[in-house]
Amino acid sequence: MKQNLHTHCQFCDGKDTVEELVRTALDKGFDSLGFSSHGYAHPLDACSLDDEREAAYIYSVLEARARYGDRLKIWLGIEEDLTGRIYADPAFDYVIASVHFIPVPDGQWKAVDYSPELTREMIQTDFQGDFLAYARAYYNELKKIAHRPEADIVGHLDLLMKYNEGEALHPFDDPAYLDLAMEAIDELIAADKIFEINTGAMSRGYRSEPYPQALLLKYIQTHGGKICITSDCHARDNLDCGFDIARNRAKAAGFDQVMVLTEQGFVPDSLWD
Ligand SMILES: [Zn+2]
Ligand SMILES: [Zn+2]
Repeated sequence: MKQNLHTHCQFCDGKDTVEELVRTALDKGFDSLGFSSHGYAHPLDACSLDDEREAAYIYSVLEARARYGDRLKIWLGIEEDLTGRIYADPAFDYVIASVHFIPVPDGQWKAVDYSPELTREMIQTDFQGDFLAYARAYYNELKKIAHRPEADIVGHLDLLMKYNEGEALHPFDDPAYLDLAMEAIDELIAADKIFEINTGAMSRGYRSEPYPQALLLKYIQTHGGKICITSDCHARDNLDCGFDIARNRAKAAGFDQVMVLTEQGFVPDSLWD
């Protein structure tokens, strides 16, 4: 099944309308498309939905479902930021829970994925150059998703490494770093969350590999975790960006299946068809 459950449109920071994305999905041979606007996370995330845009977003996706539902299965989802509103609302078919902001030692909250300069400055200034302190702050937040019953999917597991191409910030294989990530993964697997292989940073030119990095993906596989493949799409041309690479990375890590959303809920779909 060709599906993407992580899709942003004009109601948050995506470039395209719901209808443009639906038409692109049809052109690209998708079976199913899920929308996942950034849920209410004001004031930290200015582009996240407010009440008015949330209502318009829901209306727009449901309208697209009514018009195109015979040709494309359309799901209404939400990407919930851990600092924002909890979407336990049954109106949504699924919830992606993500950490975009972390607390720095002076008590402020700062984005990990806003720009290479700001991330580097945060590590140098707020964490006094201690990369592991930065990573600990991130994974301490991420772990909390294990205690969010509404969350189906963990968004971009190692987003804190968005600007680490060429190990510009820190070695990917530092055992002390991996320990922090693996501890969070253990808790998330125990809570039965699904992990994304997310190609969003590839389409934006920041990374040559999807999240999560290969060592962590392998760890998820060997510890019985479940995965799905998403593009974190913000522009319609990227709706299936890197999907072939993501499938290959999943197979290389030992997965035979990815999870897909169906009328029966999340079910496994073979990677070998
Ligand atoms: Zn996100
Ligand atoms: Zn997203």
